[in-house]
Amino acid sequence: MINQKMHDLGAEPNKIRELFAYGMARKAEIGPENVFDYSIGNPSVPAPAEVLEQFQAQLAQDPVKVHEYTPSPGDPAVREAIAAHIRDAFGIPATAGMVYVTSGASSCIAITLAAITTPGDEVIAISPYFPEYKTWTKNAGCTLVEVPAETPSFQPDIPALRAAITDKTSAVIINTPNNPVGCVYTRASLEALAALLTEKEQELGRRIMLIADEPYREIVYGLDVPYVPSIYEDTIVCYSFSKSLSLPGERIGYIYVSDLIPDAADIFTAICGAGRSLGYICAPVLLQRVVAQCLDVPSDVEAYAENRRILCEGLDGLGYEYVEPDGAFYLWMRALEDDAVAFSERAKDFELLLVPSDSFGAKGWVRLSYCIAKDTIQRSMPAFAKLKEAYA
Ligand code: PLP
Repeated sequence: MINQKMHDLGAEPNKIRELFAYGMARKAEIGPENVFDYSIGNPSVPAPAEVLEQFQAQLAQDPVKVHEYTPSPGDPAVREAIAAHIRDAFGIPATAGMVYVTSGASSCIAITLAAITTPGDEVIAISPYFPEYKTWTKNAGCTLVEVPAETPSFQPDIPALRAAITDKTSAVIINTPNNPVGCVYTRASLEALAALLTEKEQELGRRIMLIADEPYREIVYGLDVPYVPSIYEDTIVCYSFSKSLSLPGERIGYIYVSDLIPDAADIFTAICGAGRSLGYICAPVLLQRVVAQCLDVPSDVEAYAENRRILCEGLDGLGYEYVEPDGAFYLWMRALEDDAVAFSERAKDFELLLVPSDSFGAKGWVRLSYCIAKDTIQRSMPAFAKLKEAYA
């Protein structure tokens, strides 16, 4: 016997990883320099020097303690360091007791959804959205309700969200700076969203939690990224160090249940229960202690800013339509035919790996991850030119 739901989730294709795997095989076949792989969001800059120094410092500690278990929600000193960082950076009266350290934004969101929903609830995502939201929502026994962003700004569409909220809505997931579009939600947008959720909470007599998925908080090109708990009380932040410190494979992040929520302690107990039942306890201890010492270390945004400039200039020159990214390291480009999957297949003829928009809950676009070598972007331009010619 197997669990059919889990089998179905396992069998569901992950388009990003499929294209990434295709890219690996293709690189082995024709040489890595001949494939222009814009598929996956693997940071292309090394982790800051402070991270390596902290690894070394931690490894020089007591050889037994360095690998010990910590309490399930994390090392108390690490939780306190994160809370202090939130207090200092965002002025929220954060306490260590509301911080749950875990392995990346993926487990943060899976735990949070399991903690705050009951089967049959609805969770809203603003499309296009990170495809795994669907998996984590299904796992919690809930339905993901897709609400398209307003265009061309890709900010939350407040009237559309108002129409989508029902007496089953338990959460709205937002992601800013955004994967896949690269937009950053403005303070005005977030305030309008907060006002809507407050109004709906009162009207429906139920809590609507805002889940702020923040792996790209620091990867932004000169804009302010408002801190969601300072705008909407019922917020849970899902933070990851995967992108900010270039540590995606190390699996480390944290959940912060806003101390401003009146019954935050009960919610945190549910987070602990969900973490425990899903097996996400005691995040990798070395990583916990390394990141706790690097909370103020800036991300290397310059390299991504330069890639963004080269890519945008190149695409401008060829007449492609795209959304100019303000943050993260993704560019959302209009496919040259309605069927984005067919367009992505066509692009492969020119060794261009572009992720079709369908799995992000949108039609007719592709996502380009430009966290790749600058030289690859420069050398890919003739391929983009040929792809354009193929549609002339
Ligand atoms: N949320 C978004 C929007 C992402 O882009 C990603 C990873 O690319 C994740 C969550 C998962 O991040 P992590 O690697 O920290 O689990």
